[in-house]
Amino acid sequence: MSPSPKTIAVIGAGPAGLMAAEVLAQGGASVTVYDAMPSAGRKFLMAGRGGLNLTHSEPLAQFMTRYREAAPHLQAAIDAFSPDALRAWSEALGQETFVGSSGRVFPKAFKASPLLRAWLRRLDSLGVKLALRHRWTGWEQGLLQFQTPDGLRTVEASATVLALGGASWPRLGSDGSWVETLAAKGVKVSPIRSANSGFIVAWSDVFRDRFEGQPLKGVALTMGQHTVRGECIVTRSGIEGGAIYALSAELRRAIESSGKTTLQIALRPDLDLKDLTAKLSVSKGKQSLSNFLRKAGSLSPVAIGLLQEAAKVSDLSLSSMSPHDLARLINAVPVELIGTAPIVRAISTAGGISFDELDPGYMIRKLPGVFAAGEMLDWEAPTGGYLLQASFATGAAAGRGVLKWLERKP
Ligand SMILES: Cc1cc2nc3c(=O)[nH]c(=O)nc-3n(C[C@H](O)[C@H](O)[C@H](O)COP(=O)(O)OP(=O)(O)OC[C@H]3O[C@@H](n4cnc5c(N)ncnc54)[C@H](O)[C@@H]3O)c2cc1C
Repeated sequence: MSPSPKTIAVIGAGPAGLMAAEVLAQGGASVTVYDAMPSAGRKFLMAGRGGLNLTHSEPLAQFMTRYREAAPHLQAAIDAFSPDALRAWSEALGQETFVGSSGRVFPKAFKASPLLRAWLRRLDSLGVKLALRHRWTGWEQGLLQFQTPDGLRTVEASATVLALGGASWPRLGSDGSWVETLAAKGVKVSPIRSANSGFIVAWSDVFRDRFEGQPLKGVALTMGQHTVRGECIVTRSGIEGGAIYALSAELRRAIESSGKTTLQIALRPDLDLKDLTAKLSVSKGKQSLSNFLRKAGSLSPVAIGLLQEAAKVSDLSLSSMSPHDLARLINAVPVELIGTAPIVRAISTAGGISFDELDPGYMIRKLPGVFAAGEMLDWEAPTGGYLLQASFATGAAAGRGVLKWLERKP
């Protein structure tokens, strides 16, 4: 049985869709949230696996710069549902938050599951209905069409919020299949690409077999004008991790235009050239080069492996380098990136519905009564809580947009 025509359909039970549903239900609307998966918030739960980074505590002006060219488009939504508001919201659901040493904000429970459980209880008490195993496939004669275990189902809704996410980790539900549906309606969607993703490096077999899965800690990565401190991990096919994700937009753009790019890794970024040269100027004695670098340079085996890898590629002999040249190399190891890791493993995606297509209430102008929110919009941001913040904030904005639009409707 279809819900009554007055019902608002929210499609996508991720952070953006559930937030839109909450705002709508609090505004008195009758809401059904549809999702293709058998349960809500699967990517949100996955986001909590390594610590749910809800948002960031830095000043708002700095916070907004993380969204780059999309910042002006997201400003109003994030002003209206700010990082502080997100923390207060989490706390009202019984999940107190704390600021980690990097300024990132986490719930004290660290995981997403207690927050999601409390949130779904609140939505239930507001009368929000969940229709799971409902895969939206588009419109059929003006009605929403879903594939369900019982066959195709059409639903009439007085307004619709699309919150279908990006296209990374498709097994969690968001597979970007909506792109074609909206493009067929003439909605401009910029191509979906990996963001916060790893990159491909043609490691030698020896390096790959020995160091796959090992972290390079406390390094600084430089790409052109941009330098990021942090950690990255050697993978079988390349390199990934927080510091790489933070540079991923620049790296991806360089690879898109030239087919490859070079990342520079400083293995001892806290030491300047003079100090590092002095450390490497002590006598090596009978030690092997690896032992010498480990002791004199305080380098880990994977860092030494990376140096050897770079020397091999550039036809250099580490053992015949002067302490000065060796120090230079240690703090600028070139690593050639030859591709972007597949989208299925990216943390998030860039691209999506162009902001030009939306009115200030997040309605798609070409599709009156259809609103959009979350990662399916054309913004990207590094990890650090910016992804969830924008998803929640745009979900809330789309919910408010629907309420206003319904008020104005004759
Ligand atoms: C491993 C991992 C870790 C992450 N960690 C963090 C973090 O710590 N902090 C942070 O800020 N961000 C993190 N993110 C990113 C964050 O989870 C996403 O940006 C956020 O979930 C996007 O919210 P959304 O509601 O727009 O989309 P989603 O959460 O992707 O939700 C979209 C929903 O739509 C449903 N759907 C899709 N297509 C259809 C369809 N055709 N019909 C019906 N339903 C459909 C999906 O099943 C899904 O439930 C992480 C992501 C990953 C993969």
